[in-house]
Formats: sequence, structure tokens, C-alpha cells
Amino acid sequence: MGEPLFDRVALIGIGLIGSSLARALKARGLAGHVAVSSRTRETLERAAELKLGDSYHQDAGEAVRGADFVVICAPVGAFAAIAEQIGPHLEAGSILSDVGSVKQAVIRDVMPHLPEGVHFVPGHPVAGTEHSGPEAGFADLFRGRWCILTPSPAVALDAVAKVRAFWEGAGSKVDCMDARHHDKVLAITSHLPHMIAYTIVGTAADLEASDRAEVIKYSAGGFRDFTRIAASDPVMWRDIFLNNREAVLEALGRFTEDLTALQRAIRRGEAEALEDHFTRTRDIRRGVIDAKQD
Ligand code: NAP
Repeated sequence: MGEPLFDRVALIGIGLIGSSLARALKARGLAGHVAVSSRTRETLERAAELKLGDSYHQDAGEAVRGADFVVICAPVGAFAAIAEQIGPHLEAGSILSDVGSVKQAVIRDVMPHLPEGVHFVPGHPVAGTEHSGPEAGFADLFRGRWCILTPSPAVALDAVAKVRAFWEGAGSKVDCMDARHHDKVLAITSHLPHMIAYTIVGTAADLEASDRAEVIKYSAGGFRDFTRIAASDPVMWRDIFLNNREAVLEALGRFTEDLTALQRAIRRGEAEALEDHFTRTRDIRRGVIDAKQD
């Protein structure tokens, strides 16, 4: 391993994503020092037991002091308060990034708190599991997965290049795009599927107790796969839907129209329309497998 990419990296939040980053940073020698910060003492103690960092701070402002790279790894609803807290302590010339699942709201909430001379390169690793907390992370979470960066055109190119090198070091492939486009694409590929899973599992939960028992007993018929997605962290997903409202509502509108069309095809007995639709969707699955994103 050569010189680390950064001297001191501060991770603000050490749940699934923060702890996976901490592990990747260690495994790949990307940081000289990893400062870990979490809101509660319990999580911080757990992170210390797991030896995720080199120093531990309940005060996020203290964690970022002297850091040349800071990554916010908390639910997006907490970003404004975190940015307000760390803003005065960020070093001129340092790079700030994040892993939030929405990007326009994050930029809106963070930018007003940044001092002159801090380079803000927002990011979103498109990788995850339904588990939370510092125990849930693993160094290879990002391997072969995309990380999307959404820097404003005004951000220094060498800061963007460093963040790109960081994610590539963690095993990711990196794309850059406009934050608005990111939110629109992710509304379809991630936010809508989660909304559908939360709905189906909620519908089953509302069934009579006897029917509900059978839904669980025979869940291998398809329901099981939705329960995995619907087990994702409630606070994280509350924040995602509230902070990507416009794009999620647009995606939901399209979905509802398509669902109504399929409903009509079933009612009218339109076998060909159903078969055509299912054939088209099977091709999408093949595309996902070919792109090694299954
Ligand atoms: P997580 O496992 O639930 O961990 C959340 C971390 O943020 C914990 O350290 C927690 O601290 C801290 N935190 C929670 N609420 C906070 C608040 N109000 N103020 C300050 N800190 C707070 O979450 P995660 O799954 O790693 O997700 C973190 C971020 O990654 C989110 O923005 C999410 O959108 C994004 N993301 C998640 C996934 C995924 O699959 N999970 C994938 C891509 C991106 P305490 O435990 O001490 O309270």
C-alpha cells in the first residue's frame, strides 16, 4: 500500500454505510487516521469495540477538526443540523462529501453552512442492505457497485477527482451527474420499489390474523422478497420520501397508471397484452444480470 489518499478522514455517522466505509478505508489503506462520530454514546462504543476508527467523538465538530476529507453518513433529514454543527470547524481546502440517498435536498440543506474554501462533492453509493448499525457494515459493500457524484460545476476539478479516487479505492465504479437527474433516476430505481414493498407488506399486515399467518407460511411465492426490502430502516426511508417528494410522486403517478392498465387487461382477459408486458420486463432482469448488478 502506498501513501494514503487522505491524512485524516472524519465519518459523521457510523451505521451500515459509515461502518462499511470505515472498514474499506482500513482494508485499502486510504486514510492515515479515521475519526468516527456518532450521535449516541452506545453506537460510538460499539464502533470502538469493532475497532472501526482511530478516534471516536460524540461531538461532530471535534471529529472534523483537522480532517482533509469529511463524509456525512447519517439519514438525510439530519443533514442541516449536522452541517450547522460541523461548518465552523471545517478546514479551508478540505473536501466534504456524503452518502445520502437524495441529492438536491442534501445540497439545499448543507450549502448554507459551508465556509469559504471547503469543496463540497455530494455522493451516493448505490449499494446497501436492509440492515442498519455499525455491526451491519462490511468492507466489500461497495465493490462493483456504482457511486454517483453530483458536484456543482463550480467545484474544483481536483477535489472531484480525489473523491472519485476514494470511491474507486473502495471498489466502486463512479459516475458524475446533475443532482436533479440523480433524484429522478433514483426515484424509479430505488425509491419507488421501496414504496411498493412497504405498501404490499403493509397490506398483508392489515389482513385478518388467519390470512396473515398463511401469507408468512407461503411467503416463498414472492412475498418474501418484498419483506426484505420493507425491512429497511424506517427513519432513513421516511427522510428519503420527504426529501425527494417531487420525483417520487412523479414516479408513483406513472406506476399507478401502468398498474391500472394491467388491471384493465386482466379484467378484459387480454392475454396477449399481459404476456407482452411480462416478456418486456423479463428482458430488463436479463439486462441487470448482464450489467452484474444482480
Ligand atoms: P444507519 O445504519 O441507520 O446509521 C445511521 C447513523 O447516523 C448512525 O451513526 C446514527 O447515530 C446517525 N444518526 C441517525 N440520526 C441522526 C441524527 N438525527 N443526527 C445525527 N446523527 C444521526 O444508516 P445507514 O443505512 O448507514 O444510512 C446512512 C445514509 O446512507 C443515509 O443518508 C442513507 O440515505 C444513505 N444510504 C443508505 C443505504 C442503505 O442501503 N442503507 C444505501 C445508500 C445510501 P446513532 O446510532 O448514534 O443514533
